Amino acid sequence: MMAAYTPMIQQYLSVKADYQDAFLFFRLGDFYEMFFDDAVKASQELEITLTSREGGSEDRIPMCGVPYHSAANYIEQLISKGYKVAICEQMEDAKQTKGMVKREVVQLITPGTLMEGKGLTDKENNYIASITAFEDQTYGVAYNDISTGESKVTLLSNNFDDVLNELAVLGAKEVVVASSFDGELQKKMRERDVLAISFEDNSSIEMQFAHLLEGLNQEKLKQATARLFNYLYRSQKRSLDHLQPVTTYQIHQFMKIDYYSKRNLELTETIRSKGKKGSLLWLLDETITAMGGRMLKHWIDRPLIDRDEIEQRHNLVDVFMNHFFERQELREKLKEVYDLERLAGRVAFGNVNARDLVQLKRSLMQVPYLKQILLSMNDEEMNGIAGHLDPCEEVTDLLEQAIVENPPLSLKEGNIICDGYNKQLDQYRDASRNGKTWIAQLEREEREKTGIKSLKIGYNRVFGYYIEVTRANLHLLEEGRYERKQTLTNAERFITPELKEKEALILQAEEKIGELEYALFAEIREIVKEYIPRLQALAKTVSELDVLQCFAQVSENRRYVKPQFSNERLVMIKDGRHPVVEKVLNSQEYVPNDCFMDPDREILLITGPNMSGKSTYMRQIALTSVLAQIGCYVPATEAVLPIFDQVFTRIGAADDLISGQSTFMVEMLEAKNAIANATQNSLILFDEIGRGTSTYDGMALAQAIIEYIHNRIGAKTLFSTHYHELTVLEEELSKLRNIHVSAIEHNGKVVFLHKIKDGPADKSYGIHVAQLAELPKELIDRANEILTALEQPVVESIPVVKEAGPATEVVEEQKLSEQPAQLSFFDEPKDVKKAEFSSKEKKVLEKIRELDLLDVTPLQAINMLYELHKKL
Ligand code: ADP
Repeated sequence: MMAAYTPMIQQYLSVKADYQDAFLFFRLGDFYEMFFDDAVKASQELEITLTSREGGSEDRIPMCGVPYHSAANYIEQLISKGYKVAICEQMEDAKQTKGMVKREVVQLITPGTLMEGKGLTDKENNYIASITAFEDQTYGVAYNDISTGESKVTLLSNNFDDVLNELAVLGAKEVVVASSFDGELQKKMRERDVLAISFEDNSSIEMQFAHLLEGLNQEKLKQATARLFNYLYRSQKRSLDHLQPVTTYQIHQFMKIDYYSKRNLELTETIRSKGKKGSLLWLLDETITAMGGRMLKHWIDRPLIDRDEIEQRHNLVDVFMNHFFERQELREKLKEVYDLERLAGRVAFGNVNARDLVQLKRSLMQVPYLKQILLSMNDEEMNGIAGHLDPCEEVTDLLEQAIVENPPLSLKEGNIICDGYNKQLDQYRDASRNGKTWIAQLEREEREKTGIKSLKIGYNRVFGYYIEVTRANLHLLEEGRYERKQTLTNAERFITPELKEKEALILQAEEKIGELEYALFAEIREIVKEYIPRLQALAKTVSELDVLQCFAQVSENRRYVKPQFSNERLVMIKDGRHPVVEKVLNSQEYVPNDCFMDPDREILLITGPNMSGKSTYMRQIALTSVLAQIGCYVPATEAVLPIFDQVFTRIGAADDLISGQSTFMVEMLEAKNAIANATQNSLILFDEIGRGTSTYDGMALAQAIIEYIHNRIGAKTLFSTHYHELTVLEEELSKLRNIHVSAIEHNGKVVFLHKIKDGPADKSYGIHVAQLAELPKELIDRANEILTALEQPVVESIPVVKEAGPATEVVEEQKLSEQPAQLSFFDEPKDVKKAEFSSKEKKVLEKIRELDLLDVTPLQAINMLYELHKKL
């Protein structure tokens, strides 16, 4: 019953009612307090003490709190776990208020709306996305980084996988949807690392955002963005003046790399550690600025497919490659450029401090140098970019005149504004300084007058300025002139009327100084705010320059070459390398490999023993294409490439168990994704497809998949397999070629040469290794015999499909993803029981049942298997 609670708790409950899904940080003096369930949960999550207090009800109310000054840390901990925190402040001065102090929530902090702190990584954006489902089954996806003000929106057709893919590309931590949004789909989003799902039902365009949406030409795009902005406004409750006009994009403007493939290729993080180290991003990141770092990640996430755009980047990299010294100079200057985008964000948001503004000024002061460096390279394109670099001189001048070089962090203590910037301020400062000089003077006079050398004038907060005289010297003081204020062990403190008079003047001046400096600072902030769009445009150009110089730096250090593009669907890579493996190994140890594919050579079937380098080779082709299409040079001595529209991969990894699906199911889902979406301009990498099920199943599927790609899709495909039997496909499928990774025997050991050669691998390779391991000769002979026997029927029993049959829907998307049970080739006991066995088969089954498996050697087992097999 609410009425029973104290007024404070009642106030708490009424605020909390609006923030059910957030921790309410309720300001009480120097603490943020939490009550009831919030307190219980927060005390566990933050490992802080749970206490309780009287609240008017029968039971004491659970309570815990964190000090105001260290709250940021605790807030970050909660946010990183996916929670939200509502900050409820006292809106009135408690001393001047009778009764309850007014309290209001001033900001809702959520995983997707961080403005500062450890939760923000310099070189990564922190995106919040919104998804709007329309009646025609399309989805509007809008996203924003509130710390930089960037927003984009796109419309996706009815495939929710595309939506999930976008969320993965963005790494969105929070997604905003209508409260009616499909629950199953919400679950899927959470599986893709979305920390928080928030609700906003208002998708109509509010006045204050209308101008940001002007560039959007479709009502759906507007609604999708409006939902996001309305949520941001509702939660942040303050100026969002730094939001940039929203632009639209389409996913098919970029090379499409689905979620699995992005993971498999380790573009921005590795599969195992989920960290950046070891990824392509890690290899490439020679950017200097945080903005450049974010832009680099952005480019890797979205490789281009427009040849002109790509070649424009290559040409700029080329210029940087040819100007080593200018590039190094540019790198030096970029070190002085701070995060302009986020600084601009803080200016708008109102949480910018004087130090931030000094950083802004220092950054802007580099711009003329950057310009000079670009111009000195004598290149038309570079000149053009130099022309775009806007030094925003007015801002530099203002900040130079107004803000001191080393201001304090706090805005309330003064010492921010330069002398000479404001007359009034100068006058107050004079008064304060004169007062202080007067006091120093007084100290000297008093010493002379009294003859006490140790006499001093001090200051404390409780009673201001005082004259201090040690006990031994007290007798030297003139009677009646000094008023005693405080007695210490060894000294006494006194005041005089004239001292107090001066003190009043000084303190008054200082208070005024503090107030005026703060007001002036706010004024300067407002002026800088006007320049935000220009600062953002500058930030964008600087980030791009940073990434391009980074490409040149890496390409030079790692001996990459400029790729050429062909419209003939030609892949011609000479001495190609896997960029990351090469770096980790040591350039000398890495064995370069060529790759050649053309319209008559679409599928390369790669055989070779484990650990010989098959998947490294496949990945290196994909990574080379990604590098080329983001505008970087590539690890090879020569490269001609097509522009791939999409890259699909199925590459075995250690942790294939995503969300409880079987390895084989994941394998099939990835295969489906490729087969359903690939075109003849795509690149497919299939590593050991079919390995996850029984031999016959696996081989059958592998062959069928190869045939399907060969006959119906025509995508460039690299297919590695340990089913040696598949190599006969070369005879039947005209565009398929066998290649293998060579290995030799050296001093009785197998040595992998990592060299790709034409033709299939030696088929009895495994047995050969066993021989090297000195297994008994009898066993090796037997294995060869068994191998021969096993090989015969398989090859003959699978007639190859050489051409496309009638166009039937081979893969039904929904069935594959929604009914995993149908695809599991493992759990089939029900079917086995139902099946009819021939009498031969029954006998074999009986024999198997009778076996005491613990009592046979492996060799005996193989023999038995052979006997059983013969019986069928
Ligand atoms: P596979 O797919 O055949 O099992 P991998 O591609 O995983 O083999 O390669 C196994 C290891 O061999 C890699 O981790 C790498 O260290 C090394 N390797 C692969 N290719 C090369 C190469 N071209 N040069 C040098 N080392 C290589």
